[in-house]
Amino acid sequence: MSVLIVGSTALDSIKTPNAENPRLLGGSASHAAVAASFFSPVKLIGVVGEDFPKKYVELYRRHKIDLSGLQILPGKTFHWSGEYEINMNNRRTLLTELGVFENFTPHLPDAHKKSQFVLLANIAPSLQHHVLDQMQRPKFVAADTMDLWLNIALNDLLKLLPRIDCFVLNDSEAHQLTKEDNVFVALKKIHKLGPKYVIIKKGSHGSILSSPKGFFICPAYPLHEVCDPTGAGDSFVGGMMGFLATAKGSVENNFRRAMIYGSVTASFCCEGFGLNRTTKIKRADIERRVKELEKLTKF
Ligand code: AMP
Repeated sequence: MSVLIVGSTALDSIKTPNAENPRLLGGSASHAAVAASFFSPVKLIGVVGEDFPKKYVELYRRHKIDLSGLQILPGKTFHWSGEYEINMNNRRTLLTELGVFENFTPHLPDAHKKSQFVLLANIAPSLQHHVLDQMQRPKFVAADTMDLWLNIALNDLLKLLPRIDCFVLNDSEAHQLTKEDNVFVALKKIHKLGPKYVIIKKGSHGSILSSPKGFFICPAYPLHEVCDPTGAGDSFVGGMMGFLATAKGSVENNFRRAMIYGSVTASFCCEGFGLNRTTKIKRADIERRVKELEKLTKF
């Protein structure tokens, strides 16, 4: 089965303490789509401007990503720029140029409406609703978000939560949403807002799942050096959804393993700028790290 992914398709200009890289392929949907493509076919829904480099379209194609839902409109591609502090965890946004993203309305081609696995990657909650409104009974829907939407579109986000199966957010967003410092109490509170599966991401400290089967502590792959963590969260959830879409058996039984695959895929994302490293790996590289992680966490 394929995964339908909607989110931002962007040009990212990224500054770290060691280097600077302008106009890389970025956006929540780009990172998630490439990550998911290691496991299942992907259908991408997004928008880019006429300035979107052809080499990035080719890169999507190399990953066999279905682009029939990618709109190319007159104007400029969404351009985001961020700068990392020396610890590579704290990041500040330097620039957000919406371009064609400003008036984006996601339209699903008919063939996409029956997709069973849907990832609403980080994008305005009203657009996440708009995608769900067009779907015909998907089997499993996951959604990601960011602090911006908690600040300016909280009501839309709260209305989305009962419509989805899985909600993914990072620890500071969970704190912002629930006002809870304790991550387990925060998970409980978020369940009450609707989703059956809630994942709180903790960056290089992995993530925690709360589901009907209880908690799962998912480790991050131990990297000795991080080049650029932009898109790691999107790669995590993209890899996880790609794995879930093709794994045999129930979502419930596959969930923990899917998170491990997502976590490992995200580790590659952190080793290069933008998608530079992720687009050079093979499924076998992911399998190798999954085995290592298995050894590291066995007791
Ligand atoms: P992450 O590192 O997981 O927070 O994701 C970073 C990605 O989010 C970058 O590739 C950006 O292009 C994208 N991004 C930044 N701001 C926004 C926004 N307001 N809406 C959607 N995507 C965004």
